[in-house]
Amino acid sequence: MSDQSRYLESSKLITSHYGEEYEHYYNSIVPPIFMNSLNVFDTLDDYYDFDRRDKHKYCYGRVQNPTTRILEDKIAALEHGVGALAFASGMAAATTAVMTACRAGSHVVCVRNAYGPLKDFLSGYCKEHMDMTVTFVAGEEIGDFENSVTDATDLIVLESPSSLVFSLQDIRAVSKIAREHQALVYIDNTFCTSIYQQPLDLGADIVMHTTSKYIGGHSDLIGGMLAVKDPELFQKLNLHRELMGGIAGPMEAWLMIRGLRTMEVRIAQHQQTAMAVAEFLENHPKVKCVHYPGLPSHPQYELMKRQQSGNTGLMSFEIHGTAEQAVKVAESLKIFKIGVSWGGFESLVFLPHLRLDDETCEKLGGGRNIIRIHCGLEGTDALISDLESALAQI
Ligand SMILES: *Cc1c(COP(=O)(O)O)cnc(C)c1O
Repeated sequence: MSDQSRYLESSKLITSHYGEEYEHYYNSIVPPIFMNSLNVFDTLDDYYDFDRRDKHKYCYGRVQNPTTRILEDKIAALEHGVGALAFASGMAAATTAVMTACRAGSHVVCVRNAYGPLKDFLSGYCKEHMDMTVTFVAGEEIGDFENSVTDATDLIVLESPSSLVFSLQDIRAVSKIAREHQALVYIDNTFCTSIYQQPLDLGADIVMHTTSKYIGGHSDLIGGMLAVKDPELFQKLNLHRELMGGIAGPMEAWLMIRGLRTMEVRIAQHQQTAMAVAEFLENHPKVKCVHYPGLPSHPQYELMKRQQSGNTGLMSFEIHGTAEQAVKVAESLKIFKIGVSWGGFESLVFLPHLRLDDETCEKLGGGRNIIRIHCGLEGTDALISDLESALAQI
């Protein structure tokens, strides 16, 4: 790690070379997968005195791994944090963050459009087993947070943009409120990736990524990531990851490193395609509205420009028509496959609200007919013509 600082100026240099120590791996341009559970020591003093922060000392695979460490160094650098931690899934990262930021009786403020299983964890497990309370807020207005934060609030959970209706939260303003109440701000940054948004710079405390999405990028792994700027918080999260056992495996970490190398060029293409698709949909007579923060018609476009430098391939839209007609559109698509995830090379379609009741739909801000699509890398013209044919079916 002689002179890595020069790589920090550019995200492209970070994803290509930062954190790698070619001289330790026979100058291989790609680091090995340390498919290894255990490292041994010459003496017991060596074992008992070893410093876990030393990049050349490893002990046991549930604590750290050299391949995983390269990935973590890259994400920490991209997010401008002091450290990052890789997890076996996005949810392992999210739950470890909540368990670290909160204690029995904690109050959490969470945006209503946050990832469903995380909301279930907060209002289910945390309530039942830790006597925690959670207030769900829309989150577009800063007043939503001002009015719900209390002295018992330890954590504010954001997802900006959210991944169903693409509403944003003002990260800087929310972080200011959180600081006044000594609460931490957690934000799911999966949609923007570390390339298009750096929430730690805006005041957030914990950035979470589902690496199953753009960082992996090829729909062949499950993983998560946390990045933080406070060294003390980093040490706590590190310890809790060890105790809860959620570290990513070396094979997945290696795949994430590989995915990361092309992420910036991939998301630029996802964005270009998504913009063209969003404009096509917005001008289509059968489409009522399109939710995509890259569109100037997005109600929070100005905020988007202030805190993001881009958007990626995910969006949703509502048709002039029933949920049954939306099903017809989804099932008529040929290239867009029906599926829940996103962030890979492939185009996907999903109806996230199809089985919800009207009241829940209204709270979440999208009808039962809302269609979410991920624009993959199959080509802009092909995707638009697929949508055009499917919309012609209704
Ligand atoms: C997929 C997803 C998650 C969960 O990640 P897993 O790796 O499936 O646990 C969390 N947040 C968002 C926004 C997601 O899309």
